Amino acid sequence: MNTNGIPEVAGNAALLRELRLMKTGAHLPHALLLHGPAGCGKKLLAKWFSMLVLCEHASEAPCGICRNCRLIAEEAHPDVLYAEHSGKKGGFSVDTVRRIRGEAAILPNNGDMRIFLFTDADEMSIQAQNALLKSVEEPPAHACFVFTAETVGALLPTLLSRMTAEAVCPVTTAECEAELCKAGFSAAEAQSASARFGGNIGKCLNYLRDAAMQQAVETASALTEALAVQNEYEMLRLLTASASDKDTLRQTLSLFDLQLRDAAVLSLEGDLPRLGCDAPAARALAAKYSPRRLMKMHGAVTEAFADLDGNVGAVLTVSALTAALMAC
Ligand SMILES: [Zn+2]
Repeated sequence: MNTNGIPEVAGNAALLRELRLMKTGAHLPHALLLHGPAGCGKKLLAKWFSMLVLCEHASEAPCGICRNCRLIAEEAHPDVLYAEHSGKKGGFSVDTVRRIRGEAAILPNNGDMRIFLFTDADEMSIQAQNALLKSVEEPPAHACFVFTAETVGALLPTLLSRMTAEAVCPVTTAECEAELCKAGFSAAEAQSASARFGGNIGKCLNYLRDAAMQQAVETASALTEALAVQNEYEMLRLLTASASDKDTLRQTLSLFDLQLRDAAVLSLEGDLPRLGCDAPAARALAAKYSPRRLMKMHGAVTEAFADLDGNVGAVLTVSALTAALMAC
């Protein structure tokens, strides 16, 4: 947030311009999907968009100072409702969706629109999406549904076809480092984070603020290097050290899985943005293994997650995973 209370959305200038044009042209979508990698600022942008829609100063929206903007900044606006997450994976229950549908029928309190936000909608179940379908297909004139998700594929085609989908992109490394310095980190810290996560400000901030995440990143990075040289002993050593705590292990495996994904994309010569924490190590993996083998390895990691969810012990899980990775 800057001093005005407007969320500072870094980069993404073309997208902000397009949304502003929609507002001035009175063509705001009734359903908007903001998609992009975790940490690239989708939720911040959803908040900015809510302010854009409801700001009382139409010509300079979002102004950040009017009553509507201030209430949205504090997440206390009666016409901007966040759907509650539920369940282990953080989806939305059908009951929550029904409650939101009920709310969508109610006229706005403070303005022309009511905005309903479904953030991190990647785990939204088919049942919950179906329950929402009618509201998105035939929305009340004053209702606007905003979704954030990592991929467009998270939503059903029937729901997606009624939405305006917009990509939110990581910013340049220089822009990212400038934002991190503004957030109070030193230039050296900003550089160490951007070397890991490029222009993904959210991931860089998590990395700099969370010592446990730094440790998980170091381990995922070392694991990738060990896999590239098929050092089974080192992999087992690293994984066993992480297995003392299941949350640490899950975080490490998630980061390692993104390294496998990056390596697969690299060897397919895709130009998708990388998601992992160690680009050189992902390149070493890509040089060593075919995309097919890397996908099998991803399958082994997915199985390890299923084991952990199914209450298989962490040490047993990591030894099975190491053996499976070596066999891929
Ligand atoms: Zn305003």
